[in-house]
Amino acid sequence: MPFIKTGEKHANSLRDGRAVYINGKQVEDVTTHPAFRHAVESFSSLYDYQAQSENIEAMTFDPDGTGRVRVNKAWLMPRNLEEMVDRRQALTRWAEQSCGFLGRSPDHLASALVGQRIGLDVFARGGEARAKAFSEYFDYIRREDHFLSYVIINPQADRSRDWGEQTADLVARIVDEDDEGVTIRGAKMMGTSTIFANELFVANLQPLKPGEEDLAFCCALPMNAKGLKVLSRKSYEAAAQNKYDNPLSYAFDENDALVYFDDVKVPWDRVFVKSDVDLARAHFHDTPGHVYQNYQAQIRLVTKLKFLAGIARKITEAIGTTNMPPVAEKLGVLAARVGMVEAALHGLEASGRSVNGYWVPNRHQLYSSQVVTQALYPELVKAIRELAGGALIMLPSSAEDFFNPELEKIIGKTQISGAFDPEGKVKFLKAAWDAVGSEFGSRHTQYEMFYAGAQFVTAGHSFRTYDWDESERLVQNLLSSYSLDDVPRGTDESEVAAV
Ligand SMILES: Cc1cc2nc3c(=O)[nH]c(=O)nc-3n(C[C@H](O)[C@H](O)[C@H](O)COP(=O)(O)OP(=O)(O)OC[C@H]3O[C@@H](n4cnc5c(N)ncnc54)[C@H](O)[C@@H]3O)c2cc1C
Repeated sequence: MPFIKTGEKHANSLRDGRAVYINGKQVEDVTTHPAFRHAVESFSSLYDYQAQSENIEAMTFDPDGTGRVRVNKAWLMPRNLEEMVDRRQALTRWAEQSCGFLGRSPDHLASALVGQRIGLDVFARGGEARAKAFSEYFDYIRREDHFLSYVIINPQADRSRDWGEQTADLVARIVDEDDEGVTIRGAKMMGTSTIFANELFVANLQPLKPGEEDLAFCCALPMNAKGLKVLSRKSYEAAAQNKYDNPLSYAFDENDALVYFDDVKVPWDRVFVKSDVDLARAHFHDTPGHVYQNYQAQIRLVTKLKFLAGIARKITEAIGTTNMPPVAEKLGVLAARVGMVEAALHGLEASGRSVNGYWVPNRHQLYSSQVVTQALYPELVKAIRELAGGALIMLPSSAEDFFNPELEKIIGKTQISGAFDPEGKVKFLKAAWDAVGSEFGSRHTQYEMFYAGAQFVTAGHSFRTYDWDESERLVQNLLSSYSLDDVPRGTDESEVAAV
């Protein structure tokens, strides 16, 4: 039997001495801490899912043809559309395990690295040694089926200044180098899922200018690297009362954390770009890396949008409005928008192209989806809240109300629905609120609006990659079909009218 990573192996690998902090204290073991333990279980269960005998074929593949190991299909470099669709179906099955709420599941970075590996020649612009380091790292990390997260955005601080003008030690930069490697000091804004990952990919996606070479690097670190400090945001998991009251916060709080590099040493075999402001951009954009990471995000988002469509319809069933014409119309429009996002996903796959022998999604269609969906998500959440009225709020304080016979009787009389019994209605509406209204749900709106950059950034990708020549050709076709010469001259108004 080939080796396949399981949940137990993953959870064990997180007990590695990593420096994670929450509420003023360092966490001893993230797998048992109340802020993180259920998320650890959720990520681990993805590996258990792929290792189940009935899922192995659909979810994994043999990366080196030796038959010794099988890894998740997210690591597959598809050679054609058929392989891409097969890979997408595996990613969709993983997304379904969290209703699409684990945004940075392990397939996100695997996709980013697959795209960058397809464009390995771009790394060679910084020297063969850097390309070799990336290629060997990719082989290693893929064979291990490791879970990576990334930090590629700088802390906001003062956005009116360039990155190189920010205060010392704010933005992660190379402060030293020697025979063994480079030393990094400073911060990156946010690592989603970082606390649950094996490795951290560090890079700079934001535009840099000459003179900012010390910020222009790309490398990877194990999560227990000396000096790597991870400062968790508030844990929604810890705030969740129980699974019944907050089913999503309870299980899928993937966490976002500030990452501080306190003079972290990175060996040369883990440094892929160094002191090159153009290459810091190019390893995302001149390779298919950026496209592949955002392609994974769209795959996951389709599942999440379908889930939210289900929530929307069920809310109307819970309060008996489904067949009211304006409500049915609203549901129809919502379903159409979800359908369009899925259609776009299939379209950007089918209209992809071959790069270095591998299939790559259509770049502009991918960015189109991204621009549209980052605006669509909050609109969808608003539409769901509009359909719900006070139903999402008029709910027992917690499941414990059911355990008090007096209160249970009142709940039985007041949580009336043609579609649910009172307990079923409360259970569903609590899940709905967790998805769209709780602190967890609200963070998801912020996530979908910003994970790929603010709208001016994603719209910029769309602007740069659109086929303007094709549009220009169509406009020119019209303009060249007539001229001033075609306008009748020397005619008076009565002649024109006669014509
Ligand atoms: C929930 C969440 C999870 C995240 N996870 C990760 C992660 O895992 N890894 C990672 O690296 N990053 C992560 N990020 C960071 C994310 O990539 C950034 O938030 C995103 O790129 C936007 O950058 P910013 O926050 O600096 O906002 P800004 O770029 O500062 O934009 C904020 C707003 O300021 C205005 N603005 C700023 N600059 C301009 C300008 N030049 N022109 C016009 N308007 C401007 C716009 O109104 C814009 O909407 C995450 C963010 C969130 C919210």
